[in-house]
Amino acid sequence: MAQGAFTGGCQCGAVRFAVSQLGRASMCHCRMCQKAFASIGGLFVAARAFAWTRGQPKHFRSSNTVRRGFCGDCGTPLTYEYEASTDIAICAFDNPAALAPTIQLPSDRRVPWADGLADLPSMSASEQAMAAARYAEIVSYQHPDHDTDVWPPPRAGDANGQ
Ligand SMILES: [Zn+2]
Repeated sequence: MAQGAFTGGCQCGAVRFAVSQLGRASMCHCRMCQKAFASIGGLFVAARAFAWTRGQPKHFRSSNTVRRGFCGDCGTPLTYEYEASTDIAICAFDNPAALAPTIQLPSDRRVPWADGLADLPSMSASEQAMAAARYAEIVSYQHPDHDTDVWPPPRAGDANGQ
């Protein structure tokens, strides 16, 4: 499986991780993952070797065999932990495009409209231009998609930079 440094973290930046050895990447459609992500399911990759590089997740024991890690400050879902194994949420990585799922689990639990999502109409070119103008005015308070030495950054106008 893929090797190398794969970094990521929660949206507020309180929890960051680095994975050096990855296992299988999957899309889980079970009802528990739907609830944990408040979405159509959970996207996870097995982390065979990893370290928390900033902060630690809090946990919710979602069953007798599994606990799920999340950022206690911003709530971002981060892990699925069972026995001695930890899976990490794919879209919490800085570059989720590099971690394509290879299997769906269990596919018979998909929400019935999930299969049609990729076929939904996209915004028109003019709608996309309007959206781009709106997005250009947005100031994100989320952590960027790379490691940072200091987070959150010093606020502008704060004389001592604290
Ligand atoms: Zn956070």
